[in-house]
Amino acid sequence: MMIAIYPGTFDPLTNGHLDIIERGSRMFEKLIVAVAESKRKKPLFNLSDRVKMIEESVSHLENVSVESFTNLLVDFMKEKNADVILRGLRVVSDFEYELQLALMNRKLYPECETVFLMPNKKYIFLSSSMVREIALLGGDVSCFVPKPVNEFIKRFVNDKRRD
Ligand code: ADP
Repeated sequence: MMIAIYPGTFDPLTNGHLDIIERGSRMFEKLIVAVAESKRKKPLFNLSDRVKMIEESVSHLENVSVESFTNLLVDFMKEKNADVILRGLRVVSDFEYELQLALMNRKLYPECETVFLMPNKKYIFLSSSMVREIALLGGDVSCFVPKPVNEFIKRFVNDKRRD
């Protein structure tokens, strides 16, 4: 059985991420979306909220589960008996970082393989950082994120305004 892990910060999950998840779920028997704590990046949404938003957005996909991890990705993979790291590639500027990451993970864990998928072209210029900026400035992000994420963000922004 081929088990794939799709790691990321998902701060927050976007329709581009979901596109990759749906493609991956058709390729692998099991797909684990692994949400990294990414303390260094100082995420806007906390880890459990990021997990919850993804869980609600992938509930239609039977072989997809969502977990958080705080250790090294290759160690988390070994824990889960996973063979493949799934990553999304958008534009050429993604490539250099992704190549470096893939080769480093291979160095750390030679049995693992990284697989890259390209999203539908309508998601090529979509990023979590853009969604965060628009949302924090009061803009509508409903066309960029799955419905459960949009609902969460609306509440989050409202609560922030009240503070
Ligand atoms: P990380 O902090 O690991 O870069 P991200 O949440 O930003 O985590 O991204 C996780 C993965 O999803 C990366 O491989 C990234 O290239 C990919 N990705 C991000 N946005 C999109 C998108 N719009 N379409 C396809 N893949 C994407």
